[in-house]
Amino acid sequence: MGAMLNIFDFSFEELSDYFQDELHEPSFRATQVWQWLYQKLCFDFDQMSNLKVATRQTLAQTFSSELPKIKQVRTSSDGTQKLLLELADSKLIETVLIPATDHAGKVRYAQCLSTQVGCPMGCTFCATGALGFERNLTHGEIISQVLAARSFIGDVRPDHPIIKNLVFMGMGEPLLNLDQLLRALKTLNSTHGLAFSPRRITVSTCGIPKALDTLGESGLCYLAVSLHAPNQALRAKIMPKAALFELNDLLANLKHYPLKTREYLTFEYLLLGGVNDSTAHALELAKIVQAMKAKLNLIVYNPTQNAPYKAPSSDDVLKFEKVLWDKKITAIVRQSKGQDIEAACGQLRAKYLEDASAIE
Ligand code: SF4
Repeated sequence: MGAMLNIFDFSFEELSDYFQDELHEPSFRATQVWQWLYQKLCFDFDQMSNLKVATRQTLAQTFSSELPKIKQVRTSSDGTQKLLLELADSKLIETVLIPATDHAGKVRYAQCLSTQVGCPMGCTFCATGALGFERNLTHGEIISQVLAARSFIGDVRPDHPIIKNLVFMGMGEPLLNLDQLLRALKTLNSTHGLAFSPRRITVSTCGIPKALDTLGESGLCYLAVSLHAPNQALRAKIMPKAALFELNDLLANLKHYPLKTREYLTFEYLLLGGVNDSTAHALELAKIVQAMKAKLNLIVYNPTQNAPYKAPSSDDVLKFEKVLWDKKITAIVRQSKGQDIEAACGQLRAKYLEDASAIE
C-alpha cells in the first residue's frame, strides 16, 4: 500500500473531486467529511456516522487524519499558552494562544500560527531567524495548528468559538510560502471549513514583492507589515533580508494595497532599546504612518538570554508614544505576551532543542 494521504492537505474542491472521481459518490460527501473534521473536531473516520460503512473504511485506508503531537505546553502567568507541535517528519513548530477578555467577561483567544519550519529572513532580533530555514509547511500543517489548539482547549462549539482571531505571526515569513498560505486561508474562510471571516485573520509580513499583491487581490485576510525601522538604512541593519525590498518601494506598494471598507493597514514596530526608539525615529515613523490608511502597533522588545538587543526604557517608550499621539496617530503599545515562557517567536523551539541536546 502507498503512503497515506493527509486529509488536511486536501482543499474542499479536491476532496469533492475525490469523492466523485475515485469513489463515484456524490460530492456532498466532502461537505459531510469537512463538517466532521473542521466543525465537530471528529478525526476518526469510523465515527462519521452519516457515511456508509464501506466509505468510512476506504477513507481510513486512504487518508491519515492525525494532528501534530503536542510535545510541550507552557503557560505564562499572563495566561498565554504556548504549544510545541511535532509534525509527521518530527520537525517542531510552535503555536501560541494569547488570551483576552471579551465584553461578556469570557476569555477568548487569538492564535498565532506558523507557516515555515524555521525562517530564511534572518531578522536580527528573532530567535526563529537565528535557527535558519528548514522547510515550508503544507496547507494541512497550517490548518492542523488550529485544530490541535481547538481540541486542546475544548473549543468544540463552532457557534461559540473560543479562538476568535488568527494571526500569522509565528515561525516563518508567510509570504515566502504563498501557495500553501492561500490554500490555508481559503479553508479558514470557508463555511464548510473553519469559517473565520477575513477580518478575524491577520497575516503579518516583512513585505515580499509580488506576493504582497497576490495576497491583497485574494481578499482572504487583513494585513500587518513589520516595519521595525523608519528608514532604509536602519531597517537594513535590523532586518537585512527584508530590507532588500527597499523601504520606499515597499511603502509605494502598500499605498495600492486593496483595503476593505473598514480595514486599516497595521504596521508593527518593535521598540529596541537605543536602536530605533528615539524621538527622531518617532517623527520619521509618524510621517510614514500618516501617509497611509494605517494604524500602528508598538511592541516593547523583551530580551531573552544571549539577546542582541536590550529593552527600551519605559521613559523612552512613553516619549515615543507621545510623539505619535501628538500627530494624531493611533499607536497601541503592546508588551510582548508570555515573557516568562519565552513566547517571542521561535524561542520555545530553540529552548526545547537546547534542552534535548543537553540531555543527549
Ligand atoms: S521575525 Fe518573522 S520573518 Fe523575521 S526571522 Fe523571525 S520569523 Fe522570520
